[in-house]
Amino acid sequence: MKSTMMNVPLTTAAIMRHGSTVHGSATVRTLQPDGSVKTGTFAEIGRRAAQLANALRGSGVTGDERVATFMWNNQEHVEAYCAVPSMGAVLHTLNLRLTPEQIVYIGNHAEDRVVIVDGSVVPLLAPVLPQLSSVHTVIVTGDVDLAPLRRDGLAVVGYEEFIADQPETFDWPDLDEQSAAAMCYTSGTTGNPKGVAYSHRSTYLHSMAACAADGLRVSSDDRVLAIVPMFHANAWGLVYAAFLAGADLLMPERFLQAEPLVRLIDGEKPTIAGAVPTIWNDVLHFLETHASYDVTSLNLVACGGSAVPLHLMKAFQEKYGIHVVQAWGMTETSPLASIARPSASLDVDEQWRLRATQGRPVAGVELRIVDDGGNVLPHDGASVGELQVRGPWITGSYFGEDEDTDKFEDGWLRTGDVGRVDERSFVTLTDRTKDVIKSGGEWISSVELELLLAGHPDVLEVTVIGVPDEKWQERPLAVVVVREGRDPSPADLRDFLDGKVAKWWLPERWSFVSEVPKTSVGKFDKKRLRSSHSDGELTVVEI
Ligand code: ADP
Repeated sequence: MKSTMMNVPLTTAAIMRHGSTVHGSATVRTLQPDGSVKTGTFAEIGRRAAQLANALRGSGVTGDERVATFMWNNQEHVEAYCAVPSMGAVLHTLNLRLTPEQIVYIGNHAEDRVVIVDGSVVPLLAPVLPQLSSVHTVIVTGDVDLAPLRRDGLAVVGYEEFIADQPETFDWPDLDEQSAAAMCYTSGTTGNPKGVAYSHRSTYLHSMAACAADGLRVSSDDRVLAIVPMFHANAWGLVYAAFLAGADLLMPERFLQAEPLVRLIDGEKPTIAGAVPTIWNDVLHFLETHASYDVTSLNLVACGGSAVPLHLMKAFQEKYGIHVVQAWGMTETSPLASIARPSASLDVDEQWRLRATQGRPVAGVELRIVDDGGNVLPHDGASVGELQVRGPWITGSYFGEDEDTDKFEDGWLRTGDVGRVDERSFVTLTDRTKDVIKSGGEWISSVELELLLAGHPDVLEVTVIGVPDEKWQERPLAVVVVREGRDPSPADLRDFLDGKVAKWWLPERWSFVSEVPKTSVGKFDKKRLRSSHSDGELTVVEI
């Protein structure tokens, strides 16, 4: 029987229309270099998005051509999020922290036609621009010198000039909800980055999942601080979720250090925030020595991208009443796939145990674990295998690649993450396949060692990598940044671990550094550490 329901496509235009009309007075608030905050209402952003779409059309953007952004989190970036996909083009958020080679590769692979760039990052774009062969127009926000970008055959224009005099309405086309809305490249930790193209439908459904009560619970009472960059898996969907919910968006621009973030929280009172654990670790450390700031407006902090140390969650809860919620996902999963929100009816210790996991799949996402032989393993809390997922906002292929048997299996995405799932579907990741430490034929979880060591009072940052070992094939090397004024010995740290993990997991190799290198999205860069180690650049103490 045919349903009697209307077939109304789920599109970004629908998200934008809802936000800019029903919640027209909600605001996007962007931190400025002088510490002030620039405010635009959703209604205004809807009008400016129409102007941007008219101007892009006027500059020749047609069909599903790619319009790239090279921007921090700010109002103009939100306008591009609204305008570009809603006019039928594809928004390509370029990660401005990638290397010039990666930016060139990605920009050409996506065939970007237009780049919208923040004035503050023109110096990053200018050197690579001549190699972005499909780009015909560059639009620059802010009041900066455009000369470094100019060359023959390229239109370079200021953002405000570009949209000025354009009509404040646009005839948003009826789009197929399955067509591409936005694309994002994986950061390419192995091989070349791969393009993920989100559809209108996947974007809409993912935004609803983010707003759901057991998701991030975004509502019209909220002010959402999106610290996670808009080029990192669409700021975890927070922008579109805020438009659906009518929540204010608070944007830190390029000021992502603990001090400006804490000042911003103190002054603007966000209720929800999202960022990777390294940022929250910095914030916590800063607050310990700057007690006058008030961050207690935050109710919920979404944290993920790498495993969230329990001590970090507990510190925020106990000192500031802030609920840090761990979530797991990938660029390929839009990204929200699972979230650790155990039932409040469980006893407190059990809730903490479960909050330290990667959580349960959100409705819409299915999950399984599979062993090396392709066998699906039981969810018994003990069997360990590769995590595979599927669902309407999980990518089923990569842009420009017909088939990638390596990354997909029977309609499931192979995540490259290894872990176990318990009877209630809570996932515990033990490692990424490429980070697993294989010692004497058995696996050592680098993540588990890191999470435990992060709880030592003298440790500021820590990551654990596998390094070659003649006898055992690989052994763990702990790379540690100690807190100011502290001087723990390797033996102290090893003793701290003793009894918490199997004896043979205890690292005998230790390296003390001033900072752990981070990836373009703020995670510990294990690949770089492994090569520093093999190049003999790390001082290693053996005990
Ligand atoms: P990259 O591959 O550069 O890290 P992504 O942001 O797509 O880019 O990263 C996805 C990966 O991040 C996941 O496959 C997983 O390994 C890791 N990850 C994400 N969330 C968590 C989490 N809560 N705990 C542990 N690992 C996580």
